[in-house]
Amino acid sequence: MSDREDLRFETKAIHAGQEPEPTYGAVSVPIYQTSTYLQDAVGKHRGYEYARTGNPTRTALETALAALEGAPHALCFASGMAAEATFLYLLRPGDHVVLGDDVYGGTYRLLSKVLAGWNVEFDVVDLTDLDATRKAVREETRVVWCETPTNPLLKIVDIAEIAAIAREAGAWCVVDNTFASPYLQQPIALGADVVVHSSTKYLGGHSDAVGGCLVTTDPEVHERLLFLQNAAGAVPGPMDCFLVLRGLKTLAVRMDAHCRNAGRIAEFLKSHEKVRKVYYPGLPSHPGHETASQQMMGFGGMVSFETVTEAIALDVCGRTKLFFLAESLGGVESLIEHPGRMTHMSVAGSPLEVSPALVRLSVGIEHPDDLMEDLAQALG
Ligand SMILES: *Cc1c(COP(=O)(O)O)cnc(C)c1O
Repeated sequence: MSDREDLRFETKAIHAGQEPEPTYGAVSVPIYQTSTYLQDAVGKHRGYEYARTGNPTRTALETALAALEGAPHALCFASGMAAEATFLYLLRPGDHVVLGDDVYGGTYRLLSKVLAGWNVEFDVVDLTDLDATRKAVREETRVVWCETPTNPLLKIVDIAEIAAIAREAGAWCVVDNTFASPYLQQPIALGADVVVHSSTKYLGGHSDAVGGCLVTTDPEVHERLLFLQNAAGAVPGPMDCFLVLRGLKTLAVRMDAHCRNAGRIAEFLKSHEKVRKVYYPGLPSHPGHETASQQMMGFGGMVSFETVTEAIALDVCGRTKLFFLAESLGGVESLIEHPGRMTHMSVAGSPLEVSPALVRLSVGIEHPDDLMEDLAQALG
């Protein structure tokens, strides 16, 4: 069942890697809460020896994620950053990274504050500018790191174009697919080599687990990452794997609801007098709308907007009742935040700095009318 490629996304989400458990027939993958496994004789084990190296709950999640991204391999980690850091262990002093100019702040921090100290260089580039991207790539470039839609401005990067540029340069194209999820966007099919996720967000989907993953096509890269997963040891516990696996089962229906609600909210905000600009790839006025229509199945649940003044932005963030004021995204409940003073505070003064009048919404799956009424009263 697990490796049937003819099954559709919704079916794979429920069946891939999730056979009934062999001893008692539990239809839900058990939480194998153990650190070690009985060996039948010295050197003769039943597939698992020690839980950093492997755990059946984690294997189920890895199998499901690979199937959903349309790739042969996936590995899970303790967080999105743990997945990114483990991948970046593949780099060597003197290597170079081309980094999108609106990537997750933690990714920028990892390169600027950690890898820079190991003499790994990087350049920040607007990946929607293909000429600028081609110019930024050089002989030492090993990775073109792309996020789309981006955080928080929801810029759309053409994955197929960026993957082609990376391939020509002999570099890996890495796509952070956290904002779209594999239901809306499949970077591997568009030519990406590696997909990274914070499964804390849409994959888990209920704001109750932290996790990350790396999805790969190249068996050699997978082998090296498998070694690093165990050697560096930033693995998720079985309970968190269970929660993400449970989240995956409803990913398709949740994403449909996120997209529907976000689209309505973007339209509502567009016509509000206190809103100067709305960032949502589903709006025809969004510069990435056409590319998004081609490479995504829907426009996602994230909406950002700029209010007329910073004071209004701060005010709105403090006045919503259904939208909880909190960092993170991708859960069933709606969240609101002020990137300039919250998620993006660490990138102030860098090329990733955002407008102080910007507000970011993670639109949940509540009834859209309730969400719009909440925003209307908060905007006043
Ligand atoms: C949250 C996030 C990460 C980091 O993941 P954690 O699970 O918080 O470590 C990476 N990329 C994007 C786009 C994110 O939103």
